[in-house]
Amino acid sequence: MSHTTPSNKALVPFVSVDHMMQLIHSVGVPDMLRELALYIEADFKRWDAFDKTPRVANHSETGVIELMPTSDGETYGFKYVNGHPKNMSEGLQTVTAFGLLADVGTGYPVLLSEMTLLTALRTAATSALVARNLAPKGATTMAMIGNGAQSEFQSLAMMAIAGITHVRLFDIDPAATAKCAQNLANTGLVVTSCDTPQEAIEGSQILTTCTADKAYATILTDNMVGAGVHINAIGGDCPGKTEIAPAILQRGDIFVEYPPQTRIEGDIQQLDPDHPVTEIWEVLAGKTPGRTSDKQITIFDSVGFAIEDFSALRLVRDKVEGTDFFHPLDLLADPDDPRDLFGMTMRAKP
Ligand code: NAD
Repeated sequence: MSHTTPSNKALVPFVSVDHMMQLIHSVGVPDMLRELALYIEADFKRWDAFDKTPRVANHSETGVIELMPTSDGETYGFKYVNGHPKNMSEGLQTVTAFGLLADVGTGYPVLLSEMTLLTALRTAATSALVARNLAPKGATTMAMIGNGAQSEFQSLAMMAIAGITHVRLFDIDPAATAKCAQNLANTGLVVTSCDTPQEAIEGSQILTTCTADKAYATILTDNMVGAGVHINAIGGDCPGKTEIAPAILQRGDIFVEYPPQTRIEGDIQQLDPDHPVTEIWEVLAGKTPGRTSDKQITIFDSVGFAIEDFSALRLVRDKVEGTDFFHPLDLLADPDDPRDLFGMTMRAKP
């Protein structure tokens, strides 16, 4: 804290990457994922309370930078997040993020947090929460296609929340699969590394695609997908970036977070703009049935929505209270007279 900061000044808690790692270990990964799922479910169940907008995206040739705002009228939140598939080959993350919560009454920030780890956790918790509602009853096995940064989180969430006991890994880069298999050793999951996506899908009731390529990729082709499975499509989350063959989308029932955003960014960008989809909050709130038959193909066309980040930041705010897992940040000006902002600068005059 600088010598110019009065001791009674309101400071904003800042949760660094290091603090987030400490928080995750103090809670435990499975419990953190379960608690996140509870917070996300609670917020999705009060869908109408939220101000909603598709995220604001700045596209470039190499990636995208996005702002994801929402508010429930009392608390405002936003996340800054990027998606740069080529970063990985340069030793950088494909996805990095940070986010903020603020008090709507005053507009003052109440929490600033890293969200790279938190995004992986909340994406996985959302996937598993949705799979618990849509996957065939008694599902035990998941194919995990794309074994990058999100993959262990996805696998562990499916175990903690959706009852998955076996994961079958595939990535075009065997080093990614080896990394994922090693990280999942001794977690309680039975892990099989596969040489082809077809082999990974064999005997799997949940098919997760979590690849990164800024292209209309086809990770799942029509002939690979039989009746009765649940597809958790994570990686197609940007215009011009998809994973699922249109024919599968036509055969299945599609569930999305927020249609105005998913129609721009999700796999359904390949379909007619009025192709029927179900909003997943309606299933979570019990307004619409999820899976209705054993033969049905259910598809969660996930792109990531601002309310999931809001819920995750709410959880972090509640969890760090009373702990040392944050730095108090001097983010708010506090002139003695609110109109004398200039006068406040004199505190630092040499
Ligand atoms: P990452 O770069 O760490 O990993 C991606 C992996 O996909 C790499 O290991 C790569 O080798 C593999 N891959 C690429 N093409 C493949 C193919 N054809 N078949 C099999 N594997 C292939 O990225 P990440 O952080 O794990 O993110 C993965 C994707 O998920 C990104 O596209 C990201 O934008 C998206 N994402 C979505 C959400 C959401 O809420 N829906 C949240 C976070 C990330």
